[in-house]
Amino acid sequence: MSQDKIDIKDVTAKTYNPKTHKNKGDRFNPSNRIYVRESKGAFQQLRRYGGWFLLLLFAIIPWIPYGDRQAILLDIGQQQFNFFGTTLYPQDLTLLATLFVIAAFGLFFITTFLGRVWCGYLCPQTVWTFMYIWFEEKLEGSANKRRKQDSGKLTSSLLWRKTAKHVAWLAIALVTGFTFVGYFVPMKQLVLDFFTLNASFWPVFWVLFFAACTYGNAGWMRSIMCVHMCPYARFQSAMFDKDTFIVGYDVKRGEDRGPRSRKADHKQLGLGDCIDCDLCVQVCPTGIDIRDGLQYECINCGACIDACDKTMDRMGYEKGLISYTTEHRLSGHSTKVMRPKLLGYGAVLLVMIGLFFVQIASVEPVGLSVLRDRTQLSRENDLGEIENTYTLKIINKTQQNQQYQLSVDGLGDVSWYGKQTINVAPGEVFNLPMSIGVNPGNLSSPVTTIQFILSDSEQFTIAVESRFINKL
Ligand code: SF4
Ligand code: SF4
Repeated sequence: MSQDKIDIKDVTAKTYNPKTHKNKGDRFNPSNRIYVRESKGAFQQLRRYGGWFLLLLFAIIPWIPYGDRQAILLDIGQQQFNFFGTTLYPQDLTLLATLFVIAAFGLFFITTFLGRVWCGYLCPQTVWTFMYIWFEEKLEGSANKRRKQDSGKLTSSLLWRKTAKHVAWLAIALVTGFTFVGYFVPMKQLVLDFFTLNASFWPVFWVLFFAACTYGNAGWMRSIMCVHMCPYARFQSAMFDKDTFIVGYDVKRGEDRGPRSRKADHKQLGLGDCIDCDLCVQVCPTGIDIRDGLQYECINCGACIDACDKTMDRMGYEKGLISYTTEHRLSGHSTKVMRPKLLGYGAVLLVMIGLFFVQIASVEPVGLSVLRDRTQLSRENDLGEIENTYTLKIINKTQQNQQYQLSVDGLGDVSWYGKQTINVAPGEVFNLPMSIGVNPGNLSSPVTTIQFILSDSEQFTIAVESRFINKL
């Protein structure tokens, strides 16, 4: 195998772990529920505070007003995508394509550099799952207690606590459903209509659909989604190399593992630093044992690092038996951070971000398109002029009423039949049927290239090319 690829190891689960799983048998069986023990430490704090910040952002954004509407509103029905003072229309959606490319290369860059930190810290599946586990822990007790309770009788106290947990989960799910739909439907109206029973079918359907997805994913599916369904888990290995930061167990330092007294000189006993306390396994949300080596189920959440660091502290050993490290570092080599693959992803990412800002800066405040009348190429009018008919489509992309002036260039003297000054409301698409008449003596060829010109009160001008045809 080449040096910059990670060797394949057989990490088939050998035993079921009675401290983390509900049933005996295959620990990766989706029906085998994992009881995740709460982990506390620096990385968990980072995830908790980061998660709270992102959750607050997600919840607050649909409530932020801008002028007389919502600051961010992706109005699919009206085909208008509002971001504060900017409104984008379907014709501006190259911006969206650029954003997708930025997101893809951002993910490639981060994954090559820091492994699956997206999964461990930012993925909604993880953020919501840890939030749901927090409620579980507070209302039903520790993982150990929950596992014992679930295999015993359902007492009235347990029933009450389980009911409270599900009510809390459902409330969070409903708020999540509202918030998500509030990015597409005006939020205040949505909430008002919902609670006064005046909401129409589709918004209610989507609120309940996303609420059900949240409840099902964070409450029940959890690691099943990460281990069995998420496509990202499958293709991430293509981005990993031996210098990618992963969560790794230092085998040389940890083995041979085994229990010992705190006062014992474990080196004399022929033992490594791992006391085989199993805490790193019990806190793992995907139910794996990181001591088996790098596994695709690992979401780089760092819970096992915090758990193990605590054990090391208690034992008076140096922290970092499990740490964010690289395959190279684990095998005694130095880690090369600046490497061609990472630099390549970074360069493309910077170019695409630059392109995005150029595209944003060149979004025009008004759109003009010209449709020729296809039923009649040209006709002679009562004044003896050759007349061509068009429909001009004008979109006011600003947030204010606008007055536009229209003219045509490329034909010399023309007669304009229709409005040349129009008032268009914010976001309105104005269809203007009109025609142009030209004295046949001024036409030197059967087809003349012309330009329709639109200018607004601030001297912003756009020109759209079309044809004037003389087939008589
Ligand atoms: S092995 Fe550690 S880092 Fe990986 S998912 Fe489990 S707890 Fe998180
Ligand atoms: S938490 Fe650390 S000491 Fe305990 S079993 Fe895991 S690796 Fe060994």
